[in-house]
Amino acid sequence: MTLQKDNKKNNEILIFDTNIFLTGIDFNLLKSEIYTTPNVIEEIKIDKYINKNRNILNKIQAAIDSKKLILKTPSNKYIEEVDKKSELTGDYNALSNTDKELIALTLELKETVSINIMIYTNDYSMENLCSELDIPFAPLFKKGIKSKIIWEVYCPYCKEIKAENLNKNCEKCGLKLKRRPKK
Ligand SMILES: [Zn+2]
Repeated sequence: MTLQKDNKKNNEILIFDTNIFLTGIDFNLLKSEIYTTPNVIEEIKIDKYINKNRNILNKIQAAIDSKKLILKTPSNKYIEEVDKKSELTGDYNALSNTDKELIALTLELKETVSINIMIYTNDYSMENLCSELDIPFAPLFKKGIKSKIIWEVYCPYCKEIKAENLNKNCEKCGLKLKRRPKK
């Protein structure tokens, strides 16, 4: 029993947000299991985009059928944890319910299924919250987009741009520094 559980802990799990699916990524090229929430898929299905996203939705359906892609709604416990934390970091209003739910799912998978997880997103409020929750994250891996974002680190209280790295606290007020794309 213990051995089985340990093996399971080594399985790599990737969690995708809406934008990652919208790149049209080919799931067959990935070895890992992929998780997302039903609401992320609903965002891709909205009428306005349904024709444009037809190929993407077909790929998603094939991945669900082959159990490569698993849809799961997180437990309330983890949604509450993410809500609380995002209020503290100031990301609460910057994140949609779907975003917060996806982070909650990631937290739940990290604690219950596998420690080897990675959430893919290019939303900086999501990245910010993930870094606060010790969730490993990576940006969109579509060629060209990743390299175009230049980040600046700033203090959300003093509103000053800092030269320090993200994991430090503001030397004036002590608040944890955040990052945002440079304009
Ligand atoms: Zn400050």
